[in-house]
Amino acid sequence: MTKFEYAPAPESRSIVSLRESYGLFINGEFGPGVDGRAFKTISPATEEVLAEVTEAGPADVDRAVTAARKAYEQTWSAMPGRERAKYLFRIARIIQERARELAVLESLDNGKPIRESRDVDIPLVAAHFFYHAGWADKLEYAGYGPAPRPLGVAGQVIPWNFPLLMLAWKIAPALACGNTVVLKPAETTPLTALAFAEICQQADLPPGVVNIVTGAGETGRALVEHPGIDKVAFTGSTEVGRQIARACAPTRKKVTLELGGKAANIVFEDAPVDQAVEGIVNGIFFNQGHVCCAGSRLLVQESVYSDVLASLRRRLTTLRLGDPLDKNTDVGAINSAAQLAKIRELSEVGEAEGAQRWSPPCELPVKGFWFPPTLFTGVSQAHRIAREEIFGPVLSVLTFRTPAEALEKANNTPYGLSAGVWTEKGSLILWMASRLRAGVVWANTFNKFDPTSPFGGYKESGYGREGGRHGLEAYLDV
Ligand code: NAD
Repeated sequence: MTKFEYAPAPESRSIVSLRESYGLFINGEFGPGVDGRAFKTISPATEEVLAEVTEAGPADVDRAVTAARKAYEQTWSAMPGRERAKYLFRIARIIQERARELAVLESLDNGKPIRESRDVDIPLVAAHFFYHAGWADKLEYAGYGPAPRPLGVAGQVIPWNFPLLMLAWKIAPALACGNTVVLKPAETTPLTALAFAEICQQADLPPGVVNIVTGAGETGRALVEHPGIDKVAFTGSTEVGRQIARACAPTRKKVTLELGGKAANIVFEDAPVDQAVEGIVNGIFFNQGHVCCAGSRLLVQESVYSDVLASLRRRLTTLRLGDPLDKNTDVGAINSAAQLAKIRELSEVGEAEGAQRWSPPCELPVKGFWFPPTLFTGVSQAHRIAREEIFGPVLSVLTFRTPAEALEKANNTPYGLSAGVWTEKGSLILWMASRLRAGVVWANTFNKFDPTSPFGGYKESGYGREGGRHGLEAYLDV
């Protein structure tokens, strides 16, 4: 096979002007934290320090919640939907205008390839604001009664894998429905949330409608447990989701949880192999596998196993790993040293439990956090790599003989976020989709997102839906 050599094609960083340090965004202004604590955010590709960010303590969270409450009562909840919509449209348009800057900033802070932040994350962020702007003055037609009311102040906590996109999934519906928000981004990726705070200023959003408090788990805990919060929206690990559910159970807070996953990507013998291989690669190597709905368990029908595996291995040798800002890069950096350690540990367990590990020849950069695209074959249902979320570029391959066996194996997981089905038979797609216990089932594609389509899980993947008409329910008193 011909191997193409690529000249480096890095996107310029000059479009981003980083400040040395960032304050908290409370009541429309950036300011210092009460106790003066800060942490550093780094580029996972180079370990270079990008900026110092304020760590919000309980007193700061309290100030933010107070500002959000005041804005809720004095301006936002009383504003007609058509006026709120104008702000959301304005934010969406500024995101489009600043798209290149936001994409570079996201790739710098997160490690994801610029191709993805530029072509997937940021366009979807804008789309979420446009879509929800459209709902703001039509809520009475959403099917939740003639005059659905907002809930109040939403406390929102998000993870690091799609920093600005997860912010959009949280903030756009909350504001469209008339709520105000306090959002805490993940500690390893706070920079695009802080850029979003600037966008709120640029859009003249009334002070206090959006507040951004940076920090780690303790800041998140102070936010979700604050008595002034009416609604908690969390995306992150199942373990932390469980803690939040426990803390909120005795309160009147409305809670939605978007948690982990271990999706099955199921390839039947009549599937077009080349197309399926692209879907498998996109399913698990997109965003280095840091995707809650990643197709991390590949189920292949035995009759086509060797063909699919041969094509998949061939395809993986063409993936380019390296500089996230290079436009040719397919696989970027792992987001943090801690995440890399977790991926390494589970991969070692996979080998120790008897599965066979394979990676294409691949040179890893010396600095930064990197893991090669990895396949495990000979995996059984009992192996930890078939049961636990690895959240990295690691695919576990299993086989099946009949649709019933595929279904049984796919559903044999504590999670239920997504699944993929590859076959030419429409009837088989419908048969599988109606029996798979997963919030999203993709047919002959994978990892496709749209603001009009609800997203969310079954079982330990959480409860509630984000996106679409269904997602509005989480922010309305119905
Ligand atoms: P995490 O649960 O460790 O952290 C998520 C966020 O919660 C971070 O902002 C963190 O600071 C905060 N946090 C930590 N402890 C907290 C506490 N006690 N109270 C309140 N907040 C707390 O998860 P992570 O490692 O950042 O993200 C990866 C996980 O997120 C994976 O399991 C992935 O599947 C999941 N995820 C789910 C979805 C979805 O839509 N279902 C989307 C993206 C990621």
